[in-house]
Amino acid sequence: MKAATLIYVILFSCFFAVSDGNSQGICGTVVDTARIQADAAANLSSSQTQRGLFFPVNCLNKTLSITAYIFRDSTAADGITQASILSALQILNNDFAPMCLSFSICEFVYVNNYNYNDFYALKHENEVYNLYYTPNTINVYFSNTLYDNTNSSVCGYAHFPGGRDMIFLNKSCVGDGKTFSHEMGHFFGLYHTFETANGVELINGTNCLVAGDLICDTPADPNGLNGSDCQMLPYLPDPSGNWYVPQIGNIMSYYSAGCKCGFTTQQFNWMIQQFLTNRNYLW
Ligand SMILES: [Zn+2]
Repeated sequence: MKAATLIYVILFSCFFAVSDGNSQGICGTVVDTARIQADAAANLSSSQTQRGLFFPVNCLNKTLSITAYIFRDSTAADGITQASILSALQILNNDFAPMCLSFSICEFVYVNNYNYNDFYALKHENEVYNLYYTPNTINVYFSNTLYDNTNSSVCGYAHFPGGRDMIFLNKSCVGDGKTFSHEMGHFFGLYHTFETANGVELINGTNCLVAGDLICDTPADPNGLNGSDCQMLPYLPDPSGNWYVPQIGNIMSYYSAGCKCGFTTQQFNWMIQQFLTNRNYLW
């Protein structure tokens, strides 16, 4: 079976546990314009095997360490159990298994400063980076509420490769089964399937190297809505009258978490290339 066909099967055969709404605004990960422009330029100037999309290594054979920080509330309650975090970790590991990468929590750290439990990126991240950060591990922080650097309430945010090894998760979103994997996707350099920071991806795919998420086996995504059957609802046309057919099941989209299934081959290649280039120091 061809890889593309296999991914199609993965994405369209595992729609289960459909949730009852769209998760608009779930993510506060910030795309740096200079970064996406550089990635697009590399896509154009590199040979196919040098691009993230066609990276020759397809299996990392690594297990990376996570340090999990649980911010407690003013009554010293955890607000989340280790069991529910480990359950989310299992889904994360399943999602990353095709690139032979897994994650292991090396330590749970309980933080009694309740201010961090309502976490504002602008106000708290630098403090937490100085006080609660274990180098060479992926530092994952769990808070009751989470506000990104525009003070919007989000389910999670992460830093791209080259940035801090930090991922922030809203405790209430950990159990949706996909926020953790979505933020880990950003952590390894993936953009949203509907990204427009370097231009809008055309439905015919002709600008897929330099627009949208810069990845060519994820179709153009207008970031619309989906119904309970995990199909677009309503279907949307582009200005030329063509109809969008995005991957509702793609982890890097904003469609319902219950519809999400996995990453594509080129997304895995991209993450492997980004890891080896920018995050290979992680234990
Ligand atoms: Zn995101």
